[in-house]
Amino acid sequence: MKISDIVLVEVGGDFPADETHSEERRVDPLDIYTEFGDKPFSPPSPSPGESVRRTASYLEVRTDADVTGVFGPVDGPHASILRREMRGFLLGRDPLAIEKIWDLLLRRNRHSRGGYYMMALSAIDCALWDLKGKALGMPVYRLLGGPTRDAVPAYASMLGHSLQPDALVQRAREYKALGYRAQKWFFRYGPGDGGEGASRNVAMVRILREAVGDDVALMFDAFNSWDVPYAVDVGRRIAPYRPAWLEEPVPVDRISALRTIRERSGIPVATGEHLYTRWQVKELLQAGAVDVIQADPDWCGGISELMKIAVLCSAYDVPLCPHGHSLHAALHVAAACPPAVLPQVEFLILHQRNKQRFMKGYLEPQDGKIRPPETPGLGIEIDRGN
Ligand SMILES: [Mg+2]
Repeated sequence: MKISDIVLVEVGGDFPADETHSEERRVDPLDIYTEFGDKPFSPPSPSPGESVRRTASYLEVRTDADVTGVFGPVDGPHASILRREMRGFLLGRDPLAIEKIWDLLLRRNRHSRGGYYMMALSAIDCALWDLKGKALGMPVYRLLGGPTRDAVPAYASMLGHSLQPDALVQRAREYKALGYRAQKWFFRYGPGDGGEGASRNVAMVRILREAVGDDVALMFDAFNSWDVPYAVDVGRRIAPYRPAWLEEPVPVDRISALRTIRERSGIPVATGEHLYTRWQVKELLQAGAVDVIQADPDWCGGISELMKIAVLCSAYDVPLCPHGHSLHAALHVAAACPPAVLPQVEFLILHQRNKQRFMKGYLEPQDGKIRPPETPGLGIEIDRGN
């Protein structure tokens, strides 16, 4: 079998504008500048019947054997790397020799180790696993050594939900009642918002803990927007509410800062969605800087690399909880890893609708757990009917 073409398939359609809109934004690294931090968040308010155009691109790795690997959506600058840099190099190669293709792509570009190049490599890798599953008639998790369980716990990731106290209480209880054993919420304030913002962050944590009681895990995400003193201060103040982790208080390359926050705040620190490859993960693990690794198969190097990262994390007894950008790929890896190595995946409540907009079916948790698709490959089928 040989790769005969690599194509980005564009799909699009018009959808009701009010389906998945955000009610609130999270804190942002730019917020330390008042021109950004003081900007009021204004949620879209579509008029009834208004629709918006949505589009997505899917990567297809086609072969001379009538088997096609699919992955996506692939939206961003790495699409042009796939088209211009990788396509010609991969034509004629054996698509089942995934490890060789991964290594060739890593070695052939001096800037291959991260960023958009690694995101493009990740997409190729995931599409090749889909292709291999289809060629062998098995879901990917079986090729990886699974299943280790029928369904994988998913936590409710609440990005975009209102942070008004009443809404917090209502939503937190709603998702607890739906069976989610864990929820992640996003801080709205950072160092640019002063003491008042810090107190509001602490109040959000307190309200949520009081709303769900002691038995639901609560995680909190600062999206790289804090600094060490701020994270230590807020971390200590939220510690009594037993956060399961504080996520990305500072950017992931600030390894010593992450370790300081972890040691001084007294709460677990998670990071990793913006990490690339096993080598970057190794640096964090060796430094004892992190309690949870959150690599994403869309970005870290694909399914092949996420499996290696899982092995590396297990050697340090640090759990891997993959970031939720690419649910299908993460779920197949999760279903092939022991629960202690990979306890749960992220499910973005508001954003998965758009991520899966042009896929047939809808992959979502039932009673807080997701079953991986049983179909050969990853289970991504493009819906061209919109
Ligand atoms: Mg995050």
